[in-house]
Amino acid sequence: MNSLLNIPLASLKQGENKLNFELQPHALDLQPREVAENPSFEFFVGPMNVALRIIRSGLRLMVTGSVSYRARLECAMCACEYEYDFDEPLAAEFLSCDDEAEESGGKTDCEERGGLRGNWLDLLPMVRDAIHLAVPIAPRCRPDCRGLCPSCGADLNREHCRCVTANTPGVRRGSRPS
Ligand SMILES: [Zn+2]
Ligand SMILES: [Zn+2]
Repeated sequence: MNSLLNIPLASLKQGENKLNFELQPHALDLQPREVAENPSFEFFVGPMNVALRIIRSGLRLMVTGSVSYRARLECAMCACEYEYDFDEPLAAEFLSCDDEAEESGGKTDCEERGGLRGNWLDLLPMVRDAIHLAVPIAPRCRPDCRGLCPSCGADLNREHCRCVTANTPGVRRGSRPS
C-alpha cells in the first residue's frame, strides 16, 4: 500500500528523527464499513497534520507525536453542527528485524514478537486508531449546552419555552399547550 505514513526504515537514522506530514482525509484509507459506523469520518474539515518524533536506537523504534485536524460534529444535545479541533497524542514502539536475523532464519520469530514486516514502518494504523478513539460518543457543542426541550423541541440555548417552567411531574405529561 502506498501511503505517506509508510516510512522506509532506510530513511530513519539512528537517534532522533523528526517528521511532519500533511494528509488529506482520504489518505487515511478508511474502509466504507468504518465510515458507516462512524459518521464523523465524513466531516473532516481541511487536511490533518501528523507530527512525529521517531527515536531509533539499535533495532528499537520509539514513536511519539500527535495528529491534529478539524472535524465537523453534530451536538448530541441540541443537534447543531459545530467544528472542533482535535489534537491527539501518538505513542508506539516497534522492533525492526535486522538482516542477520533473517539469514539465520530468525526473522519469523522477530515478526511474531511484534517486529516490523519488511523494511517499512507503517504508521497509518496507529494514526487511524488515534482518530477512532478521539471521536466522542456524545459530542457537545459546548460543555454547558442545554439541548432541546423534550416536549416542544425548542433550542434551550436560545430561548426559554413554557414547558420548562411547568416542569413538574404529572403536569408535564400530556400537558402540551394547545
Ligand atoms: Zn449543543
Ligand atoms: Zn418546551
